[in-house]
Amino acid sequence: MKIAIKTMGCRLNHAETATIAGALEYEGHAIVPEGGLCDVLVLHTCTVTAAAQRESMRLARAARRAGAGGVVMSGCTTSVVGPERILEGGVDAVVEKKSGQVHVGAPGSPAEAVARIVAAALSGNGFRPYLPRFASTRAPVKVQDGCDFRCAYCIVPDARGAPRSRPLADILAEIAGLAAQGFREIVLTGVNVACWRDGEAGLADLARAASSVPGVARIRLSSIEPGTAERDLVDLMAAAESRLCRTLHYPLQSGDAGVLKRMRRRYTPEQYAAAVEDALARVPRLGLGADVITGFPGEDDAAFEASVGMIERFPFSNLHVFPYSERPGTPAAAMDGAVPVATRRERAQRLIAIGEEKRKRFAASFVGDEAEVLVERVDGDGDGRGWTSEYVEARIEGLATADVGRLVAMRVRSAVDGIVTGNAV
Ligand code: SF4
Repeated sequence: MKIAIKTMGCRLNHAETATIAGALEYEGHAIVPEGGLCDVLVLHTCTVTAAAQRESMRLARAARRAGAGGVVMSGCTTSVVGPERILEGGVDAVVEKKSGQVHVGAPGSPAEAVARIVAAALSGNGFRPYLPRFASTRAPVKVQDGCDFRCAYCIVPDARGAPRSRPLADILAEIAGLAAQGFREIVLTGVNVACWRDGEAGLADLARAASSVPGVARIRLSSIEPGTAERDLVDLMAAAESRLCRTLHYPLQSGDAGVLKRMRRRYTPEQYAAAVEDALARVPRLGLGADVITGFPGEDDAAFEASVGMIERFPFSNLHVFPYSERPGTPAAAMDGAVPVATRRERAQRLIAIGEEKRKRFAASFVGDEAEVLVERVDGDGDGRGWTSEYVEARIEGLATADVGRLVAMRVRSAVDGIVTGNAV
């Protein structure tokens, strides 16, 4: 069959889509571009905001008009909306996220056959005889799913359930296969990756083992929750010859103690700042990222200024700022102290502007130095594009198509709008 896949949402969803594509090809199906004619469309959905969930349902309704013979829905929306309502909405088969069960409208349809392959690919149980299929030089590898931290604004624990880890041996086998295919950078991905466990082994052990796989040049991590594995990871990052990328995406959410408490986050601003200071002291020019929510219920002007102060204090180079939006079904949606939507947005704009300046300043700090870049593409005029270990976008002049997928050392000549430019050395 010709099967198209439409992915919404986070990096983990994209990693899962790569696994689904690998499984479908292994079973003899062809993956075709999404948006045209296909026998079955797989919609791998997101539900992190109410808007994302509405969009998932809208895409399901629109899929047939766009030329899909049948529609399968998987991903987070399935657990929150429920399979019955989704089937009533015109979807042919649903792979329910938390249980992994397949629900169908009419048994025996092509969509059901596809849904069963999708369910097996997402189950994460045991060894897979196929590799994920990626369209980039960076390969996200899913190492765990689920979260039980229960932050007050987050629906993810309801959608994805409690933490489950893939066994170390399976992850390393997948990474070895990807390295043999030429992938040099592996991104260890999950809902809450610091929850990864295999017996006594934790995330830093996994990162160390993954970076020892022959052919792997870099290991990158998705975001690390404060108060989990950050100090062990910084130890590893700081070690000589470490292959762990010098980036720490470290969600702040708020710089105010009271707001963090209402959010049910597990750290204080002081603990957050101490961990960042420790990381910056041990990993010079660390690529530091954070997520921040503005206008959470109860965030007054002083609380917002505490967030501004925290962002201004440290050299963040990658800031994700979101105005708070109520997610029905979460404790925060029923909290008092709602902040007007316009204020949430104004505050977000202010932090975004600060973040942009910091991103540019961080890139400018590379001018005159060497940086190592994984080349993701080379345009016709020999302009290579890629990312440094610290997650700075880079442009290298004078490369050839054969350089795609290679790690290239560059001398940085200039930095404009947060993008560094130079030549290979
Ligand atoms: S750590 Fe908090 S925000 Fe992140 S997935 Fe878990 S509950 Fe959601």
